Amino acid sequence: VTPVSGPEVSDALRVLHRVFGYDSFREGQQEIIDHVVDGGDALVLMPTGGGKSLCYQIPALVREGVGVVVSPLIALMQDQVDALTALGVRAGFLNSTQDSEERREVESAFLDGELDLLYLAPERLRLDSTLRLLDRGTISLFAIDEAHCVAQWGHDFRPDYLALSTLHERWPAVPRIALTATATEATHAEIASRLNLEKARHFVSSFDRPNIQYRIAPKNEPRRQLLTLLRTEHSGDAGIVYCLSRSSVEKTAEFLVGNGIQALPYHAGLDARTRAANQARFLREDGLVMVATIAFGMGIDKPDVRFVAHLDLPKSVEGYYQETGRAGRDGLPSVAWLAYGLQDVVQQRKMIDTSEGDDAHRRRLGTHLDAMLALCETVECRRVRLLDYFGQQSTACGNCDTCLTPPQSWDGTIAAQKLLSTVLRLQRERRQKFGAGQIIDILLGRETAKVTQFDHHSLTVFGVGTELSEAEWRGVVRQLLAQGLLAVEGDYGTLLLTDASAEVLGRRRQVLLRREPERAARARPEAAA
Ligand code: ADP
Ligand code: ZN
Repeated sequence: VTPVSGPEVSDALRVLHRVFGYDSFREGQQEIIDHVVDGGDALVLMPTGGGKSLCYQIPALVREGVGVVVSPLIALMQDQVDALTALGVRAGFLNSTQDSEERREVESAFLDGELDLLYLAPERLRLDSTLRLLDRGTISLFAIDEAHCVAQWGHDFRPDYLALSTLHERWPAVPRIALTATATEATHAEIASRLNLEKARHFVSSFDRPNIQYRIAPKNEPRRQLLTLLRTEHSGDAGIVYCLSRSSVEKTAEFLVGNGIQALPYHAGLDARTRAANQARFLREDGLVMVATIAFGMGIDKPDVRFVAHLDLPKSVEGYYQETGRAGRDGLPSVAWLAYGLQDVVQQRKMIDTSEGDDAHRRRLGTHLDAMLALCETVECRRVRLLDYFGQQSTACGNCDTCLTPPQSWDGTIAAQKLLSTVLRLQRERRQKFGAGQIIDILLGRETAKVTQFDHHSLTVFGVGTELSEAEWRGVVRQLLAQGLLAVEGDYGTLLLTDASAEVLGRRRQVLLRREPERAARARPEAAA
């Protein structure tokens, strides 16, 4: 590190050089740091890997007193404190993993002014003893990390975060900086209002992660597809594979290991020791694949994650963005790959229908899912859609699957009419509801046991859809769901008409569909000839 001195160099820049060993600030950092050093409140929206930590760590070192950092990442506090200690920063944490002896030590260090940074789990702030402790020390700032956890509208709500609104009332003179890597306009507004940060300065960085290539593929044999991806593009690379359930995490990890890939499982059902050990190995060793539920990853700072693969559909675009954002923090080319199929939609609808909470909550979950489906089924640039979701305009990126192999669209109006009228007939004439499998069997004219049992071969629509394959019909169903022209509900994923279905059936609305890639691939040589 080059020694820097002289009045022209700010304290913040000096700390950046001397303590952290970096040459210059990244985009946005300097302005944010200056503002907080001057005592201003800030709300910071910056993508994962953008460098949010320095935005509160440096002001905490420059200002007098202890910077109090509220973070939900209890499992990472020890690592964060160790990393700071290694840099010569005096840091400590208070959370439920400590015994009272350890806690007392940290508390007296805080009171004696021997700390620069104190990390706190949010539930600590609900304790009167914590509030009284903080009253007795000098606080340089409050940093609220993962601030989207305060938003009920978001995807990662934590009730303990609601208590953070009182910080401002109790310590009006202490600047507050709230930070998040994920916020739509709605979440952004909710964070500001719940944390009383409307009058704070808002710093919104670009959410683009240009080095991440976004790809979304139809799911047929997800584990095989994953294996092909790993073998052809990522041999020896570190990566994360997300699965929805614990059992699918276990099975996928076993499958990968059985195929010679170094993979580890991570989910909330494993005991804390195994989880910590697997996480530590993933961080320290090269080329490991972590197969995990979304319990894994928040706050994980591993720069060389080369791919993030989703074997199941994320519940929201915010979740998808945050999870894929763990790829390529070092700025090198990385891949975000998602396999998605009709069964995902059925399963997630079912989860929403049976979820706890009121109707408003279920509607919110439904809106999140719809936005995710729209991203999956778009014929536009994925990045344009993704950034648009966060309220940021952009142009086609050239580094996503739809830019690299533009999907063809086709006029699916007639196919949609056939499918919707099959659903309508079953409902009207037979008072029956069925899932996609049976509807497609009817369209394809298959004499299955279930078709015979329900006498479905006598329907006039029986066998009217043989021009498409089963996979193509599943694609039609998925896309009609994504476009709101069809709905799905219940344990068996029964299909239902929506208000908009009538427009298609009444020929008042054209339906454009994305061609399934297998077919597009077949079509390409012909087009070239
Ligand atoms: P975020 O919390 O926004 O995901 P971090 O604060 O963890 O990001 O920073 C991501 C990585 O970038 C870290 O390894 C950090 O040390 C590094 N970093 C942050 N700011 C700078 C900088 N100005 N110069 C070089 N590296 C930086
Ligand atoms: Zn693109």
